[in-house]
Amino acid sequence: MAINPTVLAWAESDLGVPGAVRDVVRAPAAVLSADGGVVDPSAPEIVQLAADLVATMRVSPGCVGLAAPQVGEGVKVFCVDVSAHPKTRDHHGTFVLCNAEVVSGSRNEKAREGCMSVPDLTGDVKRPSRVVVRGQLPGTGEQVELEVEAFEARALQHEIDHCDGLLFLDRAAGAHAVYARKTYL
Ligand SMILES: [Zn+2]
Repeated sequence: MAINPTVLAWAESDLGVPGAVRDVVRAPAAVLSADGGVVDPSAPEIVQLAADLVATMRVSPGCVGLAAPQVGEGVKVFCVDVSAHPKTRDHHGTFVLCNAEVVSGSRNEKAREGCMSVPDLTGDVKRPSRVVVRGQLPGTGEQVELEVEAFEARALQHEIDHCDGLLFLDRAAGAHAVYARKTYL
């Protein structure tokens, strides 16, 4: 696996606007189940949204990613940062992608997932543990392709799912694969 240097070098300061912390929407809010719209990555409101997503992720303990629908915006934008997570190996640090899609994936693996929009549950979800993802950086709109694996691959697929109107609950094998939890972290 090769880390994409452009994505690795990206930082929220590249956006040039301060982010605001937004309220996180919880299921069953309709916006979480709607297919998000494709965006213009260089539009000022998308650059602001990107900054808000990172700011909101930063103040949320244990949060490794946040998608626009989770702050009430039905569009295809999300941020990820798995660098502080103990299950992380190689990773790209903090980044935001617009209009991202999974190009290819391999090696299905089952693991437990949680979500700020579904705070009372976790679930076992089977996903490819290596994926290639294509998307655009906010601001410049530059198209990037990332090869990701392990925990970062799972986080990206979880966020891309949000942008497509899917929750991890939609991916769990059934009620037997969903568990209650008492505290978020
Ligand atoms: Zn989530």
